Amino acid sequence: MPGTRGISLFIVPKKLVDTEGQFTGERNDVALAGLNHKCGWRGTTNTLLNFGEGRYPVRGGAGAIGYLVGQPGEGLRCMFHMMNEARIGVGLAATMLGVAGYEASLAYARQRPQGRPITEGGKDASRPQVPIVQHADVKRMLLAQKAYAEGALALALYCARLVDEQHTGAPEAAAEAALLLEVLTPIAKSFPSQWCLEANSLAIQVLGGYGYTRDFPVEQYWRDNRLNMIHEGTHGIQALDLLGRKVVMQGGAGLKLLATRITDTLQRAGQVDGLAELASELGGALQRLGAATKAAWATGVPEEALANATPYLQAFGHVVIAWIWLDVALTARASADAARRQGALAACRYFFAYELPLVDAWLRVVATREPVCREMDEAWF
Ligand SMILES: Cc1cc2nc3c(=O)[nH]c(=O)nc-3n(C[C@H](O)[C@H](O)[C@H](O)COP(=O)(O)OP(=O)(O)OC[C@H]3O[C@@H](n4cnc5c(N)ncnc54)[C@H](O)[C@@H]3O)c2cc1C
Repeated sequence: MPGTRGISLFIVPKKLVDTEGQFTGERNDVALAGLNHKCGWRGTTNTLLNFGEGRYPVRGGAGAIGYLVGQPGEGLRCMFHMMNEARIGVGLAATMLGVAGYEASLAYARQRPQGRPITEGGKDASRPQVPIVQHADVKRMLLAQKAYAEGALALALYCARLVDEQHTGAPEAAAEAALLLEVLTPIAKSFPSQWCLEANSLAIQVLGGYGYTRDFPVEQYWRDNRLNMIHEGTHGIQALDLLGRKVVMQGGAGLKLLATRITDTLQRAGQVDGLAELASELGGALQRLGAATKAAWATGVPEEALANATPYLQAFGHVVIAWIWLDVALTARASADAARRQGALAACRYFFAYELPLVDAWLRVVATREPVCREMDEAWF
């Protein structure tokens, strides 16, 4: 059968076993084609395998022996047993690299003296240099990393809780958790993969020339993190999954449920000095996200809607992380640790001031079904 319904899942062992699970002494026709020489993750081996090409003939001929798992044609469905949680795992791995780069660059910025503060009379060369953490532009790079990485971490933990609720909650709560996970999984995977990678790039920048050397770990974090937009479904595939399937499934039930959860937070934040304005900004962005979703599908032509699936994914991700930050800021207000509290509030403010406005640029091409990418002819490149 053509398409994904033609995919079946097999176990293909390197060494064959009998029905009791004992080795028969036969080698299966699975051959190592070679090693992949990767940009990052150099501590792990990654290989290309050839199956059944006759390098190790089995029982007189070419062809590997495989054992069917599940039913024929159900391979993709079986694979998705592990895939959804694996995608959250990829997001968490990207997040931890983002956190590691943030911590390394923060430690460096606190001890690297360079430059002097800008005062009313300009720079005073007779004054001592200050650690670079005191420059506004370095703080910008550190705040961006904090906002991306800690925002992504809070989302990953929220999704992990939903996974638990899906298995252990009362039937209604379990069903809601499952529905929320449908729409949030592409975000839990794609947001950290993209923005914690950007965080790692900023960590390199904070270290200046040293950031580009192997004397410090940040260049490795970037190389390792670059994988996460590629494996377990590329960034573009997450986007198609979100706009093509997740937000339209069951008449948009997942998106509506998420909007209800976001609105709960908006109502709570709306009562709080300093957060009410952010709540109203996010409320506007949420409304425009809903309108753009409808506009993308207004003609009902998938090719038109999905041509801008990636900007949609990015806008969606930023709305979700803004919501998560607002929720974190509400909770952080109760913290007795003043630095922790102020840090969380500053990262939340940073995300709303510098990142949330990007949503409108992404949504504009979605809502107008901007055709330039899909209409671009191969010959014109
Ligand atoms: C280090 C590493 C480890 C890996 N480990 C494993 C593993 O353990 N097991 C495993 O099974 N796989 C593994 N992979 C494979 C990985 O999952 C794939 O590389 C990944 O899913 C992308 O598939 P692809 O390489 O075939 O790219 P392609 O599918 O060729 O994609 C190339 C580009 O085209 C875009 N694209 C493709 N199709 C469409 C479409 N229909 N519409 C729009 N855009 C499209 C993609 O988004 C991407 O940008 C690993 C890869 C790497 C690099």
